[in-house]
Amino acid sequence: MYERILIPTDGSKVAEAAVDHALDLAAQYEAEVHALYVVDIDSINLGLGTEQVDRLKQGRFDEMDEVKERSEKATGAVAERAAERGIDVVEHVSAGRPHKLIGDYAESNDIDLIVMGSHGRAGVKRALLGSVTERTLRSTHVPVLVVDYEEE
Ligand code: ATP
Ligand code: MN
Repeated sequence: MYERILIPTDGSKVAEAAVDHALDLAAQYEAEVHALYVVDIDSINLGLGTEQVDRLKQGRFDEMDEVKERSEKATGAVAERAAERGIDVVEHVSAGRPHKLIGDYAESNDIDLIVMGSHGRAGVKRALLGSVTERTLRSTHVPVLVVDYEEE
């Protein structure tokens, strides 16, 4: 039923709770996992010059140490845990608007299920969903599973 499961991650704890859930499903269904980190261009735009924004849009993350580090950490955490469990994983990083790129990635890679956190770094205690999750739910036709994070 699930052959390819997408885990969009911002590297936060909440996303990690979703990772465990997604990996359980992947193990059960022998699915391949895709870990996607989107460099949110709008949110980091302010501190960047046009040259750097262009670089991001072209996907030249390797030239930007901080961005490279953050994205590798986010997708790498998923990859590590998947590997421990013998689950195949594909890591991907892109730059743009997160919900848009999550939806695009899901459609062009034949993703059967998107598993994501209810929130990101910003707000664990809020009753509302995070904006990336909310927008993804509203804009994609691919089924989305939202995993809540409970503080221990
Ligand atoms: P907001 O960003 O609206 O202030 P938030 O950070 O609490 O709120 P979201 O950004 O919606 O909440 O994060 C919810 C989930 O969406 C995360 O757990 C993660 O699965 C996914 N997500 C958020 N940002 C990204 C990103 N840049 N790349 C990939 N996935 C992301
Ligand atoms: Mn966020």
